[in-house]
Amino acid sequence: MKTIRRIYIDGAFVTPHGTEMFDLFDPARGEVIGQVQLADTEDVRRAIQAAKRALPGHARTTKDERIELLHSLHDAMLSKASDLEEATILEYGAPIARARWTAKYAAESFMNAAKTLEAYSFTHSVGEAEVVMEPVGVAGLITPWNADAGFICNKFAYALAAGCTAVIKPSEMSAMQTEVVTEGLHAAGIPAGLFNVVTGRGDVVGTALTTSPDIAKISFSGSTLVGKAIMKKAVDTLKRVTLELGGKSPTLILDDADLQKVVPMAITAGFMNSGQACIAGTRILVPEARLSEVLRLAKATVDAAKVGDLRDPDTMIGPLVSAKQYERVQHYIRLGIDAGATVVVGGEGHPEGLGGYFVKPTVFAHVTNDMTIAREEIFGPVLCIISYRDEEEAIAIANDTDYGLAAYVFSSDHARARAVAARLQAGRVAINGAPHEPLAPFGGYKQSGIGREYGVSGLEAFLETKAVLGALARA
Ligand code: NAD
Repeated sequence: MKTIRRIYIDGAFVTPHGTEMFDLFDPARGEVIGQVQLADTEDVRRAIQAAKRALPGHARTTKDERIELLHSLHDAMLSKASDLEEATILEYGAPIARARWTAKYAAESFMNAAKTLEAYSFTHSVGEAEVVMEPVGVAGLITPWNADAGFICNKFAYALAAGCTAVIKPSEMSAMQTEVVTEGLHAAGIPAGLFNVVTGRGDVVGTALTTSPDIAKISFSGSTLVGKAIMKKAVDTLKRVTLELGGKSPTLILDDADLQKVVPMAITAGFMNSGQACIAGTRILVPEARLSEVLRLAKATVDAAKVGDLRDPDTMIGPLVSAKQYERVQHYIRLGIDAGATVVVGGEGHPEGLGGYFVKPTVFAHVTNDMTIAREEIFGPVLCIISYRDEEEAIAIANDTDYGLAAYVFSSDHARARAVAARLQAGRVAINGAPHEPLAPFGGYKQSGIGREYGVSGLEAFLETKAVLGALARA
């Protein structure tokens, strides 16, 4: 049993003022493995004061000084990679391949922000006006449990690059991972107050951040429901908000696609992060005429997918994060069966020989886009195969959703795939399994969010724009 009784304020680990203890679980076994003492509103007040004190000094730093800070944070996080992998396996149930990717991604966030900064100019001219981009102020960064280290590091990297200081509120369910991240950031030796970490409940610590007049900006990743609540609360102080929310992303397999090749890729896009990925391609749209071929390949792919041993580098699917997520996913599987969808593979209950919060990777066929399983975010390894008659119908089904985070298109004809991509309402469309592009904008259309992260868009999310008229007039 590990007990965490530290948060991070003003450059030091401190005991929280809050006294509530919260259980931490090993999702692979469903057993309590530790406890964390949660922060309260007094801790938030102290963290905001520290970030506020550090703001003027940091806002004045040069681009080169910030790039240097980002490089030291990168190196410090890299040196924590193996500890972070261990914590991510133990507390989140990530298979080792995913845990390794997450640790690398967290460190690389700082290099990506540094690269963005190198190419960015904080001033430009419009006629005789000088346009100056200035740090927005103290930022509140609120992150979910499904990629704790990655979200903390990416949001903090761009806030810091912009000249902001930050109060970070990670998920209370990720306290062990957060502790490793905080130790890493601390080891970089950056000035006190630039970042503060207050692990606590969303309705306590999160609300204190979203309502504080001293927080200028909230950058949030999490569910659409909480995103809406945050936006409502942020309105009284007119905070700037970036919301990265949920998704129900379509994967369009066009009728000319090489199914042998693309069906396994489509299943992988759906099962990424054990199905707990906001960008997972969970609605697989396939041409009616090729449905039986797709089902055969989908079943073969899932049957071959490794579920279970988190230490095996080939394992694709680990457990869900919590008992609540396990029950939620079981509920959706039952809903799919009750609605008349066919279980191609998987179904209710645990996979054979596994307990904890493991669920059976499940693929439904004969799903229609009006079924609840095709409309709501399940957040587990449960995919819907929906057939379409022609390309027009495929595009209509793809866009018939409240969400718009990601989309995937597979075709043997690149120009055709691009033409389809152009008609999809999603913040990111990947053609033929294209890899992540770390400096390209990331964010959602419709109820998948507001604003963009990564690269220049991610940097400008932490900046205000000032036009100084006449600044460039000849004297
Ligand atoms: P969640 O919305 O329940 O919680 C996210 C964070 O918000 C946590 O730190 C939580 O404590 C906090 N929170 C909860 N209530 C709050 C409140 N009233 N005020 C302020 N903060 C509050 O989400 P989750 O269950 O941790 O994560 C899963 C969800 O996140 C899924 O819907 C997923 O799609 C979404 N997500 C989106 C992205 C993206 O980039 N678009 C990335 C990852 C996850």
